[in-house]
Amino acid sequence: MRQGCISLGKVQCDGCQNIIPYAGRYLIIPEEKGVESETGERRSYCVACSEERGYVEHRGSEKSEPVLTFFPADLNPPPPPPEAEQPSEPAK
Ligand SMILES: [Zn+2]
Repeated sequence: MRQGCISLGKVQCDGCQNIIPYAGRYLIIPEEKGVESETGERRSYCVACSEERGYVEHRGSEKSEPVLTFFPADLNPPPPPPEAEQPSEPAK
């Protein structure tokens, strides 16, 4: 499972080997042989390396700040289930 994290300044990127600076965003992702895999080893990647590997989505519009997320699904939440109709009891 992917985890988006904020560095406390002691995290090393497994891609470029740089230390991810304090408050920098990084991704923890299980990877096996360079491919996302739930059974793989947990790796930490800085934003640049996450992008390189295609783990980051950029979304945005001209009017808003660009959005960067490790979780594309967050940007397109499934529509809420239709509310079940509650049989309304007549007031007594
Ligand atoms: Zn990196």
